[in-house]
Amino acid sequence: MTKKMDKKTRDELIAKADKLLKYETGKVITWCGNCGNYGIQNAFMRALVLEGLERKDFALFFDIGCSGNGADKFEANTLHGLHGRTISTAAGAALANDKMKVIAFAGDGATFSEGVNHLVHGVRNNFPLVFVHHNNENYGLTIGQASATTRCGVKMNGTPDGVVVEPINPLQFVLSLDPTFVARGFSGDVDHLTELFRLALRHKGFAYLEILQSCPTYNRTTPEDWYASRVKYVEDLKDYDCHDIWAARKLVQDMDKEIYLGLIYENNGRKDFLSLQKSREGRETSLVEEVRRYDVRALI
Ligand code: SF4
Ligand code: MG
Repeated sequence: MTKKMDKKTRDELIAKADKLLKYETGKVITWCGNCGNYGIQNAFMRALVLEGLERKDFALFFDIGCSGNGADKFEANTLHGLHGRTISTAAGAALANDKMKVIAFAGDGATFSEGVNHLVHGVRNNFPLVFVHHNNENYGLTIGQASATTRCGVKMNGTPDGVVVEPINPLQFVLSLDPTFVARGFSGDVDHLTELFRLALRHKGFAYLEILQSCPTYNRTTPEDWYASRVKYVEDLKDYDCHDIWAARKLVQDMDKEIYLGLIYENNGRKDFLSLQKSREGRETSLVEEVRRYDVRALI
């Protein structure tokens, strides 16, 4: 099951096809055939174009992992940083320059193991950035070890007898931290994912977007068709209120049978970290514009 883009948006995208190509570096792609990263990258580029964002308007931060290798493919301001540290680096950039959209990408290893502390404080502080979690349920770049989101019983390299503990439920985890934006997409539904990226880009605060990503090389337990036969859409739910955190927590409990995609939760009543700073009140300039240069040679 997939959701199709409406005709008006599709026509707009076709009319702006030349802008899409501007974001491609043309470098050799290292992802495996049919990797879900292609769909994610495609949806993200479409969203940039549809939101009218030019190269000067945004900066991209990549963690280590297969998702991180996306850094090579974007003709844009990119930084490919340390493992598990993409949220902290991106937060620094977002606070220094609030006139630029900041988007950070990381896999499930970086998000829920090496960098889980940064995720906690990113959500808690409501830093003004978009965080994209590529959830392929394993460490793909290092040839298929179990991560914190690998399902119990699954045999991976490094755990040949099967994982013995239950996985983290990413959305339950994030919803427990009083977030302001939580959404979930699927790499096999590019049209729908494009719209989720657009919503996340418009959010003022920490926008958490989980993407169920197929990894045909190492994750054979939940391949693309496994997800495709289970995903459902929040938009099709009558009476679902995405401002009700308890409704959201109930909705994301099931990770096996009915997996809901869409805008799961939004709270626009909580200010982002920068807006809460007294020292920033009434300022038209961003911090980077206020940097002064001093000659310190006389002090040395
Ligand atoms: Fe994609 Fe998996 Fe290959 Fe990595 S290992 S590039 S996630 S298919
Ligand atoms: Mg992974």
